[in-house]
This record gives sequence, structure tokens and C-alpha cells, in this order.
Amino acid sequence: MVVVMVSRRLAALGAVLGVMVLVQGAPRAQQPQAAARELAIKYTRDAEEYATLARQAYRIAGDALSRTMPAVPGRPWAVILDVDETALDNSVYQLERAAYGLQFDASSWSAWVRRRQAPPVPGTAEFIAGVRRRGGHVAWITNRTAAEADDTRANLQSTGLWSDDDRMCAQKDPQHTKRSRRAEVLAGTGDCAWSGQPMEIAAFIGDQMSDFPGPDEQVPGAGGDEAFGRTCFLLPNPMYGAWTTRVTRTDR
Ligand SMILES: [Mg+2]
Repeated sequence: MVVVMVSRRLAALGAVLGVMVLVQGAPRAQQPQAAARELAIKYTRDAEEYATLARQAYRIAGDALSRTMPAVPGRPWAVILDVDETALDNSVYQLERAAYGLQFDASSWSAWVRRRQAPPVPGTAEFIAGVRRRGGHVAWITNRTAAEADDTRANLQSTGLWSDDDRMCAQKDPQHTKRSRRAEVLAGTGDCAWSGQPMEIAAFIGDQMSDFPGPDEQVPGAGGDEAFGRTCFLLPNPMYGAWTTRVTRTDR
């Protein structure tokens, strides 16, 4: 009996390690493979825990704004949101690729963006409505390309997330970093800015660490771990990201 239990445990450990090897060996697309990938898609699409985590992040963000941003006339402020897996849920794209055993690629991704069918991430609509009620502006800083901006705007519009006052800050070229676009919103100059109107940034929302200011960006209230839950709010994304190809934790 003991031998059976030990062998079962070893088999279970082997399965876990097998998944880990697959994850660590993920290709440039930064996606886990096979079973791990399917489980990640299922978690995003089907788990009550995923939807609750997303709503929880947005609810905490909204509560923080209600404390830090009482309606003060003449104090322009904005929130900065990423788009993919932050405001728009692309798990249908991931599911379709996985069904055919195919990885992410640029042409299938562009075709998905053109369909404009991504639904909103749970909690986003309520949060955005609260920002607008309080007189805040919304900048969407995404690494979708400039050529994809119109379809992205239309998708946000069809889900009720877009307002014509918003800024759509897509990526013009690889050097056009999120960091540089955040600086434009703050300074009030450039394509991402409300021209001539420097903004206080009340909240950053994203699913990757690159969606948030680094310590050297000199953004008040942001730039470190202690900002999370206060000005920075992170959504779960088990489907892709830098973590699939390297260890990104630095706290151990
Ligand atoms: Mg994203």
C-alpha cells in the first residue's frame, strides 16, 4: 500500500514537472504549451475565481479613486489602462489557436483584432463608469499597433468602454514604449496627451508588469511594489507573459 501511494505521488510530481518543463521551454510567443496552455485558457474563460479576481482588482481600484479623487474642479486627472487581458478578453482567440494546435502569430492576431469581438474583462465597465462620473479622463496605452487602433477603438466602443474624450495610445514602432506614452500623458504633450493639460495619474491598470511605471519614471505614488492596491492594480493573466519563459519573481 505504501509503495502504491509513493508511486502515485511520484507520478503526480512527474506530471507537475512535465508541465513545468513545457512552460519553461515555451517559444518566443511567451505562451505555455499543450496541457498547461489549455488549462490557462480554461481558467480565464470558465473559473469563477478568475472573474472574481478581475472584479476584485477593479473594485479596489474604484474604491481607491473614491478616496484619492474627490471631485475637485481644476485638478485634471486620468487613469491609464492597458487593453489586452486588462479591458478586453481575448481568450476566444487563444481558444481558437489552441484548438488547431497553433501558437500566437501576428497575422492571426491582426485578423482577430479586425473581428472586434473581444468582450470586456469583468469589472472594467463599472470601473470606467466610476472614473467618468468623478470627472476623470481615460488613456488606453496598448502595444496593439497603430494600424490596429481603429478596430481596437471600435471594439471598446461596442463593449461600452470607449468615450470620445479618451486617448487611444497604440504602438507606432517597437521604440514607442509604454513608458514614453505614460510620460506624454503626464506632461500634456504628444499623441497620448490631452494637449497642453498635464495630468495627474490616479490609477494604472494592467496584466503585465510593463503596464506599470518603473521606479525611475518619477511618477508620484507609483514605481514600486507598495503602489499595488493603491495606484497600481494588477489583473491575472495565466495565458501568456514574460513569466512563461523566465523566472520573473525577485522576492526570493
Ligand atoms: Mg495586456
